[in-house]
Amino acid sequence: MPQRPIIVKNGRLIDPVQGFDGPADLLLADGRVAAVAGPGAIPAEDRLVFDAQGLWVLPGLIDMHVHLRDPGHEHKEDLVSGLAAAAAGGFCAVLAMPNTSPPVDQADLVKSLVARGAQAGGARLMQSAALTKGRLGQELTEYDALKRAGAAALTDDGSWVADAAVMRRALDYAHVCDLLPLSHAQEPTLAPGGLIHEGRVSTRLGLPGQPAQVEEMAIFRDLALVRLTGKPLHICHVSTASGLALIRAAKAEGLPVSCETAPHYLFLTDEDVGEYDANFKINPPLRAAADREALRQGLADGTIDVVATDHAPHSSLEKEVEFSDAAFGAIGLETALPLTLELLRALALPPSRLAEALSAQPAKLLKLPGGTLRPGAPADVTLVDPQEAFVYRVAESLSKSRNSPFDGRRFQGRAAAVIVDGEIRWRRPTL
Ligand SMILES: [Zn+2]
Repeated sequence: MPQRPIIVKNGRLIDPVQGFDGPADLLLADGRVAAVAGPGAIPAEDRLVFDAQGLWVLPGLIDMHVHLRDPGHEHKEDLVSGLAAAAAGGFCAVLAMPNTSPPVDQADLVKSLVARGAQAGGARLMQSAALTKGRLGQELTEYDALKRAGAAALTDDGSWVADAAVMRRALDYAHVCDLLPLSHAQEPTLAPGGLIHEGRVSTRLGLPGQPAQVEEMAIFRDLALVRLTGKPLHICHVSTASGLALIRAAKAEGLPVSCETAPHYLFLTDEDVGEYDANFKINPPLRAAADREALRQGLADGTIDVVATDHAPHSSLEKEVEFSDAAFGAIGLETALPLTLELLRALALPPSRLAEALSAQPAKLLKLPGGTLRPGAPADVTLVDPQEAFVYRVAESLSKSRNSPFDGRRFQGRAAAVIVDGEIRWRRPTL
């Protein structure tokens, strides 16, 4: 059934791709942005009117790093719950990682996930596929077939492709198939048992540490292969100042590298692990305060292209156990936008920076048609109330899992509604 056209009016439209930030109305029809016009310029006719008074109107937010646990661990999350949590967090689209059970390394599985995602409601699903068969880092998967099946990116996320010759071929082949490869940059032999950042806190708690050099060495090797091949690479969840410095230098050199960090690295440190709180056990680990400051600077100056959640749901069975046995990871789909809003205020950054890091840049890197609200773009819109004060309660999360390090935190600002493909997929119940 064709959707009724929607007018989003009275809002503040923020679209860095068009260089626009100001009052404007938006007409959405046939799944596209049909028109952008001055306030009141689009006649209501029989269209659905969404009053965005006091709201920011952003190109649909895109989270390019989530774990939806489907197939294999649906007790933690599945496509329906994960995509619902994404929409409630303000995301119109997410890129799901392939480290499921079985891993997504075959075209048939990509095809079935994409088809199920289209029926799941909530945010759009984009599915990534493994760089190597079984995510074992030895043999490349069939990139061409994966692309034709609908894969949106390639990654062995959860593991680094340690064999340099394999990764070199992966960069070349991914480029031929026009798929962005994503690297989980952690050298696996220096500290394989590291549970938290190696430093004063790991010593105090008597836990095996993971030094920053685990990430630094992997990024150094990855960048060397980008230099060798000249082909693009995206570095996932950067957590260290030293890793970020390498990326900054590589960009200055002109290498085609991009990177993301997750909100928890911009807010938390290893000190927050406190007395063995497993909700703060994350991989890569929460780092030192100096790393957090460097990442904030990297976001402010654009070295960090993208903010992505690394949403990693785990049930209480995997988290409410001895710290050493607890699974790594935290959910993040519903806190990423409020945290980024807080960061804008702390760093005195304009809202367009948020639209870049959470929409325009992921769209550009993944070569998606979205990331902008220019006429003809997909009708994916995130409406944000930048003022609304609230306390985040993980018990109310739409995710199946409860492993958030931000439970009980006070916030100012969150998503008010999400429009995907011209359809209001989620709106805050109080609106
Ligand atoms: Zn990862």
